Amino acid sequence: PTMAHSKTLLVLENFIGGKFVPCSSYIDSYNPSTGDVYCRVPDSGKEEVEAAVKAAKDAFPVWSSKSPLERSQILNKLADLIEHDLEAFAQAESKDQGKTITFARTVDIPRAVHNFRFFASSILHHVTECTQMPTMGCVHYTSRTPVGVAGLISPWNLPLYLLTWKIAPAIACGNTVVAKPSEMTSVTAWMMCKLLEKAGLPPGVVNVVFGTGAKAGEALVCHPDVPVISFTGSTLTAQRITEKSAPHCKRLSLELGGKNPAIVFDDADLSQCIPTTVRSSFANQGEICLCTSRIFVQRGIYNEFLKRFVAEAKKWKTGNPSDPTIDVGALISKEHLEKVRNYVKKAQAEGARILCGEGVDPLTLPPGNQKGYFMLPTVIAEVKDESCCMQEEIFGPVTCVVAFDTEEEVIQRANGVKYGLAATVWSSDVGRVHRVAHRLQSGLVWTNCWLVRDLNLPFGGMKASGIGREGAKDSYEFFTEVKTITIKH
Ligand code: NAD
Repeated sequence: PTMAHSKTLLVLENFIGGKFVPCSSYIDSYNPSTGDVYCRVPDSGKEEVEAAVKAAKDAFPVWSSKSPLERSQILNKLADLIEHDLEAFAQAESKDQGKTITFARTVDIPRAVHNFRFFASSILHHVTECTQMPTMGCVHYTSRTPVGVAGLISPWNLPLYLLTWKIAPAIACGNTVVAKPSEMTSVTAWMMCKLLEKAGLPPGVVNVVFGTGAKAGEALVCHPDVPVISFTGSTLTAQRITEKSAPHCKRLSLELGGKNPAIVFDDADLSQCIPTTVRSSFANQGEICLCTSRIFVQRGIYNEFLKRFVAEAKKWKTGNPSDPTIDVGALISKEHLEKVRNYVKKAQAEGARILCGEGVDPLTLPPGNQKGYFMLPTVIAEVKDESCCMQEEIFGPVTCVVAFDTEEEVIQRANGVKYGLAATVWSSDVGRVHRVAHRLQSGLVWTNCWLVRDLNLPFGGMKASGIGREGAKDSYEFFTEVKTITIKH
């Protein structure tokens, strides 16, 4: 970059003990829709993590002794402040991540606001347990107290949405936190830090350390004074975090990848199923852990489904994410785009058919976006269950459609991957819907819909998709230490 260019770069700073502090070295962050470096992110390591953990430890006694109502009021204030700046946050998230401005405006930032309001409310309504033993003259009850300093690590696909889904319950329960967002999408977390003081959050309750997973993330995971780690990201990183934290016996919550099936029976309402399954395949460029990537269609309707599904997918417009008429923005990075494209190439080499998108249809981009990391929604058919495209998480705008014959067969095939995060079932037979939902190895099953969430209920995956659940009760239990107390009278 030229001097004039470098002067305009956005430079982020760590937020430690209520203050923004510069770092000795920085990493470049790219605008995925142009391919330009536009931001510099602190390349924090042990030293910065040490300072942040100390600040969080110092803040813990005061914060943990505040009443739930006091904490709730601060969380609500923070929600109001983010909501007040919703448009600025949405613009920043879209620019940093490549997602469409429409998605950032309607999903990412409203959900971040809602995360704070939701936990501000739910923290007021927990009741602990009590049992009685009259013959022993005893009552037992449980008490719950915050654990301490929580380490929160989040990915790049839904940056502020997923980070606040951890920060909100952690601090609502009285913990203090050190958060590390993805080095590729750090801007909205930094913007949120600017609002914390105004919301009334004491210094040190929320600290944010920016940097890579290998340096900053690992320093946090290995820190002896951080007893809880809540992580959302890939299964591979989760394995590393598990290993690294093992010597300290840390409490871990791991929200990981998926290879999510949609099962479409021949009695499905295709007028609902098709647009929803196109959305579940391609929303946020397919970069959502809950996105559908294996569509099993009952043989009798397979050809009709394919025809209508491809026609619908072709309606999705790919281009400049800041244009509100665009449906598909840019992928997160050049490397990720290459990885996703390679899956399509492999499928082709194995004899699968590419029905639309990558390599089939022309992608025309505005002049300013020629170097961006774009890819058309791509539909692959006739791909074998053993193929890497049907087994591995692609995490891009690519979905596979295959035929099946029986209910028994499709359950086996849907379960035949290492992951178990989210599944969708399409049928108008209520008995079948219950039977199939019951047998799918999946933490979430949506029938005749997708991504309809009640935050009260558990969220998380089975098998390689994770350990633990998040939700009103689940996050409360994760972020508190329980004690059983017995009183003899
Ligand atoms: P990632 O695992 O590469 O990174 C996630 C976070 O972990 C980042 O902040 C990264 O810097 C950090 N990290 C990397 N190595 C680390 C280490 N050794 N120690 C500590 N921290 C480390 O994942 P990603 O590519 O950012 O995100 C995409 C993945 O996240 C996909 O697999 C997706 O399915 C998954 N995901 C899961 C959910 C869920 O709720 N289950 C939600 C969104 C995304």
